[in-house]
Amino acid sequence: MKETGILKEHVDQDIREYYCFSENVERIDEKLHITFDSISMIEFNKFRIESYNDISSIIELIDSIRSYQISLTLNADSLHQISDRKKIEEGRWYKLTASLGEESTSLQASLTEHSSENSESNSISIRNISFLNKNNSEAKKLSTVFSLSHFATPPREGFTIIEEITNHIVHLDDGELRFPRHFRPFRSFRSLVAHDVGQGSCNSLRDRNITQVYFDVGGGAGRNTDTYPRGTEYIFDNHHEDAVVILSHWDKDHWVSAERHPHLCDLTWIVPDQALGVSHTRLARRIGLNGKLFVWTSHRQTQAIETQYLSLYKLPTHRNRNYSGIVAIYKPHGRRDNSVLIPGDSPYGKVDALANHEVIATIVPHHGGTFYGDNPPNAPQSHKVVYSYGRANREGHPTFTTTDKHHRFGWLNRRDTIYGCVLVHPINLCRRNLLIYLLHYRHRIQI
Ligand SMILES: [Zn+2]
Ligand SMILES: [Zn+2]
Repeated sequence: MKETGILKEHVDQDIREYYCFSENVERIDEKLHITFDSISMIEFNKFRIESYNDISSIIELIDSIRSYQISLTLNADSLHQISDRKKIEEGRWYKLTASLGEESTSLQASLTEHSSENSESNSISIRNISFLNKNNSEAKKLSTVFSLSHFATPPREGFTIIEEITNHIVHLDDGELRFPRHFRPFRSFRSLVAHDVGQGSCNSLRDRNITQVYFDVGGGAGRNTDTYPRGTEYIFDNHHEDAVVILSHWDKDHWVSAERHPHLCDLTWIVPDQALGVSHTRLARRIGLNGKLFVWTSHRQTQAIETQYLSLYKLPTHRNRNYSGIVAIYKPHGRRDNSVLIPGDSPYGKVDALANHEVIATIVPHHGGTFYGDNPPNAPQSHKVVYSYGRANREGHPTFTTTDKHHRFGWLNRRDTIYGCVLVHPINLCRRNLLIYLLHYRHRIQI
């Protein structure tokens, strides 16, 4: 790190050190916005972890260590003044040195304790951010503790993890699920709903208006927490007891509703194998306690699971979590010619399977953020394009570049979740079924 005059002036201040997992790094114009998922270095090092197999100590640590969100904004070209790296990348461990309180000449950040009753933010002054190489002993200990592998549900004997995931999805396909008595008179009809959860993502596949599958259970998080709307119980309380959560990737805006509606952790989850920070590991721990946590391991090639109504793709290993998650394609008629794309935050260009599907509806990747050089498929005449984002979100999503591009590729029939949840593909939407929808959704629904 370069020594600066600013730092020398404050050497006597109360210094704190944190281990920080970079949860979100967003560059908007000249500004860099960074959110870290952090723990105190001293507190972490008090725990003695003997080995990777020392699961009881690891769980004790995960359950008891205090964690903090540290957020900062700086000029992108001044990062080198506090960091040993030109770039801060998402999903990595860093060591951050700061002093408590405000120093007018230092870089200010806010520190908020997670899950604390008093979730007030405090000011800290950042002195240094250094990258922890994965071969570094501290980084090794961190990634040993904060890992999905401790809580993953192993497949039953004689099954691979892919077969186990397939079994859960086929189970839904077959309509074997038991429905509450008052729903039985209604003919089965499936639909996909994109929900308003603020700056994040949540879609549900419903049969007789009961959720069978959630594709992400996210919402406004971090700097966009205030975009999370009130009254989301109607999304998360109305699900089948055997419902499945498919997590596109581990960015918090795709799972934060599980913190707000903890019963979601009792369900079966299908998640990609990605690097985790502190709050992500806590979620995995909660799912592992009562629910099932099936971890889809990464490979160099895309892996596919095909059932009649759903195609799931695990994208290849990639440093960026947005690019290595799970993408879903819903086939309402059980065919590839009327497909609904649910890409999470993955650009279209990463989804090879698009070549084999005719997409009639798409949830725009990454809340309408910009992927330069990434093009949507051509829109058919009858179509729907959905933007899922939070009102006045800090990232400025959806961007003009993205909405304009979709326009040029023919995606004109637009719905935005900020105006209420969106029925993406109504099947057999006869008058009676429409009535059920309108009765069930106290919230505005866009058909
Ligand atoms: Zn993401
Ligand atoms: Zn996202």
